[in-house]
Amino acid sequence: MTWMLLLGCSIDADRFVAFQVQDDGSYTVKPRPIDSLEDPLRMHGQLGDVRAGGVLALSLIDGGLEYRGGRGIEVLAVVDDGVAEPIDLDGLIMYSFYGHLQDTRDALLGVGVAVEPLFPVNMAVTPAIPDIGLALLPVENAAYAPSANTFILLSDLSDKQVPLAANAGVVAHETGHGVFHLLTAGDPYAAKLFPPGHSGADGVSSLDEGFADMLGGLVTGDPRFIMPSLNLLSRDLESTITAESVSSRPELEVESYDPYALGSVFAATVWDIRLETGDVNETLLLVCDALRAWALAEADADDAMVAYRYLDQLVALGDSQQQQAACLAVENRFAGVHTVEACP
Ligand SMILES: [Zn+2]
Repeated sequence: MTWMLLLGCSIDADRFVAFQVQDDGSYTVKPRPIDSLEDPLRMHGQLGDVRAGGVLALSLIDGGLEYRGGRGIEVLAVVDDGVAEPIDLDGLIMYSFYGHLQDTRDALLGVGVAVEPLFPVNMAVTPAIPDIGLALLPVENAAYAPSANTFILLSDLSDKQVPLAANAGVVAHETGHGVFHLLTAGDPYAAKLFPPGHSGADGVSSLDEGFADMLGGLVTGDPRFIMPSLNLLSRDLESTITAESVSSRPELEVESYDPYALGSVFAATVWDIRLETGDVNETLLLVCDALRAWALAEADADDAMVAYRYLDQLVALGDSQQQQAACLAVENRFAGVHTVEACP
């Protein structure tokens, strides 16, 4: 057995100590392989490189978001028998995040969703975000910036059982925003299909959050994936929430739009389909196929209701069992708000 403290030299490790979710939804910290991680001390690998600092700002060239600069980071780890164990929480979060990102990519590739164009993705630890207008919603310490193709990792503000960036479902949720942007805009660096100010943008921001929660639930298999990090009962995919009970809806023209509540209705609808059909992989493929088809069909839409028509695509693209489940779920969750004409 050899022990050594590593400071900037290369290491020979094939497993990495990280947060991992167990069958009952609780977390444990133990070694796992992360094949995509090529230089585990500098967080360099096939998925992209983690960098510290830098700036997330509007590009002067095209007005889109871009990530610039940043410096390399260094993880301090001890290696024993091929297992790299970080000596601090920052390193543990890095390995956990990278491992969860790999798992999410593999789950999507495994069912046939072509997410290759997302990678390599930028990963920025506490970048400067100078423009207050870019405030990325009430995210606490993990976010994805579309068109800059950048994950943003911030420090946890409070002690948690599982830091957000080390929570498998939260990483799948944030990756979900990347997949949403890829499947709707066509390119990770393209502008948003429905930019802020578009008549459908509010509803689409809910669909974006809902899609991200769909991936969080489907990739981890846990409808309450956020709970080990945040006690947010409103995000339970098995809650009884309905669209009619939500006050922030795009057609109601509220003053300050909150995308999460209606997003939870979209996510709960998909979780209903997953429970009714019993097939998590086919559900994952359906939600992605339906999103791509929706973006193609609605590219020229100019109305507040555009996000609801994603539900029509869930029905249109499902097999007969999924169609039946989707019609039932939409009827239960969206009664009085949206009807899918193709349903009996
Ligand atoms: Zn989100």
